[in-house]
Amino acid sequence: MAGNEQKYVASAFESNWIAPLGPLVDKFEEVLSGYVGVAHCAALSSGTAAIHLALEILGVGPGDDVIVQSFTFCGSINPVLYQKANPVLVDSDPETWNMDPELLREVILHRIKTTGKRPKAVIPVHLYGMPARIDEIVEVCREFEIAVIEDAAEALGSSYKGQKLGSFGDFGILSFNGNKIITTSGGGALLSPNKDRIIKARFLSTQARDQAVHYQHSELGYNYRLSNVLAGIGVGQMELLEQFVALRRKNFDFYCQLFDGSPVTVHKESSDQSFSNHWLTTVVFPKDHEKLNKEVFMQAFLEENIESRPLWKPMHMQPLYKGAEMHGGAVCHDLFQRGLCLPSGSNLTNADRDRIASVVRKVLRNAQ
Ligand SMILES: *Cc1c(COP(=O)(O)O)cnc(C)c1O
Repeated sequence: MAGNEQKYVASAFESNWIAPLGPLVDKFEEVLSGYVGVAHCAALSSGTAAIHLALEILGVGPGDDVIVQSFTFCGSINPVLYQKANPVLVDSDPETWNMDPELLREVILHRIKTTGKRPKAVIPVHLYGMPARIDEIVEVCREFEIAVIEDAAEALGSSYKGQKLGSFGDFGILSFNGNKIITTSGGGALLSPNKDRIIKARFLSTQARDQAVHYQHSELGYNYRLSNVLAGIGVGQMELLEQFVALRRKNFDFYCQLFDGSPVTVHKESSDQSFSNHWLTTVVFPKDHEKLNKEVFMQAFLEENIESRPLWKPMHMQPLYKGAEMHGGAVCHDLFQRGLCLPSGSNLTNADRDRIASVVRKVLRNAQ
């Protein structure tokens, strides 16, 4: 929190709109739509809820295939199980770490051959803020008339070919959980160029109440709308987003310099078409190196009370998804073995960076 968040929260109290609707919810939706460049937006209680409603609106149900990138956080995929649909997992491409469009095409053909019907949706992710090859992914899905739910939960502020992430799919989803680049403590958004779909999302997110004087329900709804108080935090945070992106990218530049000339690879944009918010800066260590690996680094950081974390554990390696069909897997498996997320907060100080640098230099020296 760094700007006008408290002022907007106070205005929610003054207006007495302490509810999952109100002027700040409307305002937050308008600001998000304008920023990402998608006409319609529903502010929701989480990013996971946004994916769930997208699946519901697309009519995804039992027996339907949904193709998801294995290398992600469980929020991308759990809604597929909420709908009792069938998750089909695919590997990443080694450059973006996100869904491999060529492999996606093969998987679609394979599923059509096996089941006799098209998968209902594809969920690509922009992991760590790094743009996926989203134009190619969308093109493959258009060819087969399959809907794209673009998981931009970690990628608010990133763009591809000059276009903001979250605006490429039939749906875009965002998250404002406590760890994301902007936060409302918890929250999310569903974006779509299709007005009717967003009207439907608002309806489903408020228990699907019919037009009637009494409470009447013909459809199964959810309690997924964002609170007006939290939307106030969101409006304040959006004023700071560009600043946060600059700060995250400053952390990234710092790590690029720090690891320059070492065998450790900082995960970078693979072309100047991609602009990452660098939500988290991540690195990959060399193969089978005794002294330069994630365990050694995590331990060295821990000794200085600095937190670092492994990359997301792929879904096909999770007990919950062990029965799911997986295509490929070598790329994300290898990244999980060798990669690490480094301290990347927007609030890192120069003193923090100095402490991090001294640990990194020490480990690199010991490895020589
Ligand atoms: C955080 C996250 C989500 C889910 O968002 P929540 O708001 O926490 O429900 C989905 N996908 C990815 C890739 C995420 O990082």
